[in-house]
Amino acid sequence: MSWKTLDHMHLSGKRVLTRVDINVPVENGRVTDTTRIDRIVPTVQHILESSGTPILIAHFGRPKGQVVDALSLKVTVPALEAALGVPVKFTSLDNARETVTFAKNQVVLIENIRFEPGEERNDPQLAQRLADLGDIYCNDAFSAAHRAHASTEALAQLRPACAGRLMAEELTALEAALGKPERPVVAVVGGAKVSSKLDLLSNLVGQVDHLVIGGGMANTFLAAQGHAVGKSLCEHALADKAQRILQQAQATGCEIILPSDIVVVREFAAHAPHETVAAEACPDDAMILDAGPETVARIGACLARARTLIWNGPLGAFEIQPFDRATNAAAQSAATLTKMGKLISVAGGGDTVAALNQAGAADGFSYISTAGGAFLEWMEGKDLPGVAALAT
Ligand code: AMP
Repeated sequence: MSWKTLDHMHLSGKRVLTRVDINVPVENGRVTDTTRIDRIVPTVQHILESSGTPILIAHFGRPKGQVVDALSLKVTVPALEAALGVPVKFTSLDNARETVTFAKNQVVLIENIRFEPGEERNDPQLAQRLADLGDIYCNDAFSAAHRAHASTEALAQLRPACAGRLMAEELTALEAALGKPERPVVAVVGGAKVSSKLDLLSNLVGQVDHLVIGGGMANTFLAAQGHAVGKSLCEHALADKAQRILQQAQATGCEIILPSDIVVVREFAAHAPHETVAAEACPDDAMILDAGPETVARIGACLARARTLIWNGPLGAFEIQPFDRATNAAAQSAATLTKMGKLISVAGGGDTVAALNQAGAADGFSYISTAGGAFLEWMEGKDLPGVAALAT
């Protein structure tokens, strides 16, 4: 897939309707983590430096089409001004026409677009109202691209559209991992439940050469293979679905790597007494909280032979020590191989970023997506409406 970027657009003297994700955490009227704001700076600065006028469109929380004072984007203005180093003109959508008329080469921020009932309905009239405010559309909010909303989808049809810097970076990384990846490709999928990742697993077995299944969801696969899993987190009702995924993998030639040894405990607590046993030997009164060292070595060997890695979800209950060992070891192997130039590694979704940070491995990965739901839908092979709307 190809898409236009800011470099393809003539921005001078143009108003650029720029969809951003500044849905930041706020406490007592102050932004407590500016990561999302910091990440849009290159796009906004590029538009300003090209003598354009960035008109920022964003959502904040879930006001569901109503004005909710506590969810006004006004709270983000000081943090935006600090990150950009220029003043930001804040306006309601109703007053936006007047504001943008007088803004020349200045940053404008429009009030929470989800105050508008038409936003989540992808309403063409709302999209037209937004389009009337500018000349060019730039989407820099990959994390909102899995939603067909007026500001992410309908609006893109009404003006020449391009990807912002952050969106382009994300799409390039994702294309490298699942679009036209260097093979062999290995996917690591962990986390709590199979039920939330069935579509993702079904898609991956048709795309990747090796699929490592870990975390609580591996228990469902072990149970489906007839092994006892004691008191472990396990979705027994999904045994059929797990078997179908194993059969699919056999048909497509995808090697599935399940734990061959497991770390078991009698209570779910940090530093609970634990032992490592074979995957088919989980005692009736125990629960599985991590993969064992033999499994970690098999994953390491698989990574060492791979050229591309895509990772979502921890391999164990990584929040409580020492059940973060498998996740940490595999993440560190991936980071080392990436730094050596042997592996392209892309990770994201849910708790993955926290798990890789905790492993001290996040910096070593080629790309870490903070997009959550959009990243998972992309791993599921779904078309993201906000990305499809940018395709050339
Ligand atoms: P997810 O949001 O699906 O990526 O799941 C992440 C959660 O799965 C984390 O809170 C982990 O503690 C949890 N998890 C991973 N492995 C296990 C396990 N064997 N038993 C219970 N919870 C687990």
